[in-house]
Amino acid sequence: FAKQSGRDAVRRFNWELKDALIHKTELIKDLRQAILNQEFYLLYQPIVNKHGVVLKFEALIRWQHPEKGLIAPDQFISYAEESGQIIEIGHWVIQEAKQALGAIRSVYGENIQIGVNVSPIQLSKQQDGNGLLLADLLSKESCGNGQNSLVVEITEHLLMNLDESTRDALLAFREKGIQVALDDFGTGYSSLAYIMNYDIDYLKIDQSFVQKLGEEHASQTLCEAIISMAHALGVSVIAEGVETKEQANLLIGYGCDYLQGYYFSRPIPLDQVLIFKQDKLI
Ligand code: C2E
Ligand code: MG
Ligand code: MG
Ligand code: MG
Repeated sequence: FAKQSGRDAVRRFNWELKDALIHKTELIKDLRQAILNQEFYLLYQPIVNKHGVVLKFEALIRWQHPEKGLIAPDQFISYAEESGQIIEIGHWVIQEAKQALGAIRSVYGENIQIGVNVSPIQLSKQQDGNGLLLADLLSKESCGNGQNSLVVEITEHLLMNLDESTRDALLAFREKGIQVALDDFGTGYSSLAYIMNYDIDYLKIDQSFVQKLGEEHASQTLCEAIISMAHALGVSVIAEGVETKEQANLLIGYGCDYLQGYYFSRPIPLDQVLIFKQDKLI
């Protein structure tokens, strides 16, 4: 009997594996049409300062699949990276964010910035020159204060296996005044020494730490330490995934520069961004 159910488990496992493979193959095939058919769109999530004033947005992609419905980035970005389609998608994201910038500026002022997530593939060796192209594309938009209006968000994992073309791209960003944010900070193993080497402008504390604030003493210590070390290096800190007033207050108390999360606003479409403007979210 035990043998029988073991065999069933193996069979079930094989089916699940097969389903997952079919799903993946289908999605990669469907990605080819997605840009052409205008199935992607961007949502924008506000980022506020300690007074609750909106100073930045993060652009977040969504895929409205004709049959499968709405697909979140966690469900398709890794496939697009594997198949190389992330290059084309990444360009679309930047073009789209640039297009939105004019309207967003007219409501929020010249100094508003938009963070765009950039995949390591977009900067890597396999795509020679792409990182430099990206720097060119990004640099056409500068804000009132001399900084670029678009901020590149990369994950800290990128800095850990850095190839030459990625290094070139990061240097090009610096030369062109394009700011760089290190996303999901704390989930990898990067040391703050990397940050000094590559002139990172912002650290984004990963939401897993933010959400344990007030529950777990270790998270408090960690957030506090990240913020003070970042400041010692001249880097500003953005806390991700702030969901409660308590988390917001603790972070502000630690000197956190910017806050982002459902407590302030979920990611919203452009038309809502343009009517959303409030003086303060706290
Ligand atoms: P990320 O860059 O770390 O973005 C933050 C994610 O946290 C977003 O998920 C956002 O909706 C979610 N979030 C924001 N505030 C809260 C909160 O208070 N609570 C919780 N539970 N979640 C919150 P989303 O939009 O599903 O994006 C997931 C990831 O997909 C992003 O993580 C980013 O790595 C990637 N991604 C999104 N858009 C793009 C893109 O255009 N290009 C690339 N390459 N990756 C993208
Ligand atoms: Mg991000
Ligand atoms: Mg993140
Ligand atoms: Mg800089």
